Amino acid sequence: MASAKISHTDLLIIGAGPSGMMAAAWASQYNIKTRVIDKNHARISKGQADGLQVRTLEIFDSFGVVDEVWNRGYRDSEMCTWLSDGENGIHRSQRVLLQKVGISRYTSVAINQAVIEQTFLDLVSQKGRFHVERNMLPECLSLIESHPDDKDCYPINITVRHLHNPSPLRAPNGTGKDTRSHVQIKEDEDSDAAKEQQTGNAEAIESINAKYLLACDGAHSWTRRQLGLVMEGEQTDYVWGVIDIIPLTDFPDIRTACAIHSSTAGSILNIPREDRINRLYIQLGLEDNSNNRANINPRTMIETARKIMAPYTIDYKYCDWWSLYKIGQRISPKFSVSNRVFLAGDAVHTHSPKLGQGMNVSMQDAYNIGWKLGAVLTGTAKPSILSTYETERRQVALELLNADREVTRFYARNVHKTPSTPAAANGSEPETTNTPNFKLIRENLHAFLAGVGITYPPSILTSSQTTSPHALHIPLGARLPSHKILNQASARPIHLATLLPSNSHFRILIFSGNILSPSQASLIQNLTTPLESLIQKYPPSTIDILTIHSSPRTSVSIFDFPPFFRGPFDEVLGWDYDRIFVDDIAAHDSECGSAYQRLGIDKEKGCLVGVRPDQHVGWVGALGDVEGLGTWLGGFLVAKV
Ligand code: FAD
Repeated sequence: MASAKISHTDLLIIGAGPSGMMAAAWASQYNIKTRVIDKNHARISKGQADGLQVRTLEIFDSFGVVDEVWNRGYRDSEMCTWLSDGENGIHRSQRVLLQKVGISRYTSVAINQAVIEQTFLDLVSQKGRFHVERNMLPECLSLIESHPDDKDCYPINITVRHLHNPSPLRAPNGTGKDTRSHVQIKEDEDSDAAKEQQTGNAEAIESINAKYLLACDGAHSWTRRQLGLVMEGEQTDYVWGVIDIIPLTDFPDIRTACAIHSSTAGSILNIPREDRINRLYIQLGLEDNSNNRANINPRTMIETARKIMAPYTIDYKYCDWWSLYKIGQRISPKFSVSNRVFLAGDAVHTHSPKLGQGMNVSMQDAYNIGWKLGAVLTGTAKPSILSTYETERRQVALELLNADREVTRFYARNVHKTPSTPAAANGSEPETTNTPNFKLIRENLHAFLAGVGITYPPSILTSSQTTSPHALHIPLGARLPSHKILNQASARPIHLATLLPSNSHFRILIFSGNILSPSQASLIQNLTTPLESLIQKYPPSTIDILTIHSSPRTSVSIFDFPPFFRGPFDEVLGWDYDRIFVDDIAAHDSECGSAYQRLGIDKEKGCLVGVRPDQHVGWVGALGDVEGLGTWLGGFLVAKV
């Protein structure tokens, strides 16, 4: 018999996949009352997503958790295209760099989703001192009208069933030679049988009241359905296979990312992974019906792969995971309801895995809403900032779906084409003279695919989208480009981005220019009082000040700056030596000495830059424009009373 319990939380996160865990990471930084519930008994252990783009790695670094994935993941640098040679084989037709040189301090890596989830589980349990509550099945959602500024209101109620002894939703790993594990196509998770299995084991009922709800419950989002949001877009009925194996092959580019197109047998996307594993996405050219599904297994998938890669051979003895998926691009009409319920990740957008974006865009959705919820719940920011989640992230999802359509067309150029099976019937478009060129696609999309080109539109948080004349290469609304600078006190080279950890703080970067010039020195002096009173309007730790000057390092010391720029003097710890930096050359690091030039900032005059907690630039102005800076901050921050 179910027992009832009533509880309250500030933030309830449903789903502990990549997006839910990213949101939990933010919650751990803000120290807000948070619960994360998941219907599954454990995190995934194999399969699903495996690609991390450079922006995601930058975000991991901002939480201090990049090392494991960066060191263990497979670092991709190139991608090759193989096409039919017109006879019985294939040849390499293109080799492109996966990302432009200099856009980030990282390159993309391939690593299993399980490692990502575990990394964030560890972070949350250490920093936030909370854990994911598993075997929790939400059953009923209600949302009442509430005033956005009402801090004490719990407008969301979720009834959750605590499952007593739930069986795993996913089949346990096999031990057979061919298949170590098999995950069914996603739709099965919502089957009646699965629900019965779960509810049959139920024990207690809990009624959770929450101020805010973040739904990260995947492509078949229960929350989305409760809210009556219907996904829009198209989905074909044709399945692709995805398989993780240690390949035994004579194909020369097996450890390079490759798109392989045969003349008649279909296409493969090959992604080398950690621990000698390769992920193959294989176009099977089969309709998704029970008959076909029953006949698809790792052996039949590799048979198809062999035909596509002929005359090269491929086989395996170790298969880590396999699954099937359907191509489609779908998006939810809304990403939030009443600025109280938010949906992120696969819950609001699904697409093919070919661009390796699913996990990235999902985590970045949560990265976007996570700090906003934290800032509102701690009373740092006005609730109106929450509206920017949908305007910022839905646009990114739409762009992703367009990119995915374009790439799907590319992979479709050499599908089975027989008189009785027109190409379009295989879930793809026929080859035309307009068939896209892969190199061009990647060139056009490179900044978007790397995640560093995402630029949020003007809003309460982003003052404009026109580049400021004071910093010609700092795109407003985009993440701050990072270049190497030196610590003034120690001469240690450091990437600008590492000064902006995800710890909830806004930042004012003072590019003070050449402070050896008397006029610039007096400008800096005059800046002190208005800047100090601006910062003091807000609670401590809301805004950090960092200074980067452009005078020769050895001609200046931190004591040439007013005390305010060095931060408060601590009776035990002394001055904070990590507040003043210089754009100058370094004896041991050739990357230093060009930050001003690369950011398009005048080395004499400098400028002011306002940065959000997610490292996106919200405001740029002249060095003396503290009033403009104050107007920007005053638009969304809550001043002290
Ligand atoms: P998910 O990772 O789906 O996480 C959702 C979480 O919510 C899960 O932990 C789930 O248990 C939980 N949950 C779901 N419903 C409820 C509920 N009602 N109550 C409580 N908890 C709930 N991407 C690729 O890039 N390449 C691939 O090859 C690839 N293959 C995939 C294969 C499969 C079988 C699946 C399911 C996904 C695959 N993906 C792939 C997609 C990729 O995994 C997702 O884009 C990414 O995980 C999105 O993260 P998310 O957190 O939004 O959703």
